[in-house]
Amino acid sequence: MIPFGSTIGIIGGGQLGRMMACAASTLGYKVHIFTPEKDSPASQVAFATTVASYDDKKALAAFAAKVDVITFEFENIPHESLELLESKKPVAPSAAVLKVCRNRVREKSFVRDLGIGTAAFARVTSVGELEKAVKQLGLPGILKTAELGYDGKGQVTLKEGSDINAAWESLKTKEAILEAFVDFRMEISVIVARGADGESRAYVPVQNIHKHHILDITIAPAPIDAALAEQAEAIAIKIAKALDLHGLLAVEMFVTKDNKLLVNELAPRPHNSGHWTMDACVTSQFEQAIRAVCGLPLGNPVRVCDAEMKNIIGDEVSDVQKYLKNPNAKLHLYGKKEARPGRKMGHVTVLKQSS
Ligand code: AMP
Repeated sequence: MIPFGSTIGIIGGGQLGRMMACAASTLGYKVHIFTPEKDSPASQVAFATTVASYDDKKALAAFAAKVDVITFEFENIPHESLELLESKKPVAPSAAVLKVCRNRVREKSFVRDLGIGTAAFARVTSVGELEKAVKQLGLPGILKTAELGYDGKGQVTLKEGSDINAAWESLKTKEAILEAFVDFRMEISVIVARGADGESRAYVPVQNIHKHHILDITIAPAPIDAALAEQAEAIAIKIAKALDLHGLLAVEMFVTKDNKLLVNELAPRPHNSGHWTMDACVTSQFEQAIRAVCGLPLGNPVRVCDAEMKNIIGDEVSDVQKYLKNPNAKLHLYGKKEARPGRKMGHVTVLKQSS
């Protein structure tokens, strides 16, 4: 166990790091943020910050020397940087887990090899391979960069008659994945924590509704039957065990029209679809992440009441006063100065009667 009063190093300075830092401080830990950004949302609430790029080896080594354990809120850190950190201090989740989760081909292959459903997919590294993959999987399909994509960036939908060559060129990547289009009924996610002792605890599955490829609303619990919810939790726990995860993992899934679950994405960190847990569960996802990373016993993830979370994106932040008038609404703002389009500025969770 990492003793109370120790310093947790967090790679990444966004809102996830900010909310992890707040949870860590509740447990008596200090937080040191590593981020390339000045005045980041996380550094505003942290004990210390290193501002440097994610491949600055000297800065990474100096950061590692000052902290007792390292975790992250952002997974697109160069693998060599994580290995360097791992050679100096405990890192949780491990560089090996990150390696699987940060690449869509490795991620989907890992899940499929566990016997868990995914969309049909093929790895693509050239326009010739893309043509072959289109023949194999059929259209419509979604072509995604294997790495560094988020919130719908680095993706193109291919339909009958689409210009395959232009689609490949537009991604400007060496490695991509073509996925068969899933005509899903609903998108859900399950967040699971796995402690140092191998014990796993999952939050209830939630429904996620996207607007312009960005998460807009999370409904907790997801309106699915108990058997499907149990299956979704079992899938998340199975993946966490197979990864030998030590930390938190979000598993995004599609519910197909015939009630099958297909895993779409893994994120080995707190996740936007778990923000509701801050106000509606005994233990928030942020506290759970800190507990797992520090080797503390996991907290109870059970929900105290149902909830609906809405992201406050871009300009929507200018109109948040209205939420303060609702006594069942909990407003969270991330301290970002500039409300650029598509930028997550905060979120609001409305607490409901339990179903
Ligand atoms: P991703 O970046 O993989 O999370 O994809 C962003 C969003 O695109 C998902 O939340 C879905 O709404 C949609 N999407 C991604 N992959 C597929 C797929 N294979 N079939 C249908 N919709 C998809």
